[in-house]
Amino acid sequence: MKDYKILKAGDETLKQVAEPVTGFGSKGLIELIELLFHAMHQENGAGLAAPQIGISRRIFVYGIKDNPRYPTENPIPDTALINPEIIEYSTDTVDYYEGCLSLPTIRGLVKRPNSIVYKYQDVNGNYLEKEASGFESRAIQHELDHLDGKLFIERVDDLRSIIYTPI
Ligand code: ZN
Repeated sequence: MKDYKILKAGDETLKQVAEPVTGFGSKGLIELIELLFHAMHQENGAGLAAPQIGISRRIFVYGIKDNPRYPTENPIPDTALINPEIIEYSTDTVDYYEGCLSLPTIRGLVKRPNSIVYKYQDVNGNYLEKEASGFESRAIQHELDHLDGKLFIERVDDLRSIIYTPI
């Protein structure tokens, strides 16, 4: 597996709007997805976007299984979304202490719509449309923000909600 480095807040790549993925079904794309899953698992992330490892492309992965950083969340299968777009947001919102591998040891309260309808492409370029709610919806919204050059801390309404967490 290729080496990777998780970029931290302040890095210019994290502030850029990522470019769409092209070249579906290619070896390069499959390897990128494998690297994203590998890095996410190594770092105990619940999600990881390509710009976080320095690749400014519109692709991210997420998933949860026995994660020490999110011990109370239900499992979510490993999923990769390519060129994702959210097409509907629910009006009901949820507050949650978000974290991010690019902002280690910090959590902050972020209000987001509870459920979304989103579309994306799979590794072969097929278009799919799905709904998500709860933690999965939050993970998708958080990771999509990375593709638009935004970190969760920019969505924290009350900076006094920021907390330190050892993991
Ligand atoms: Zn993040």
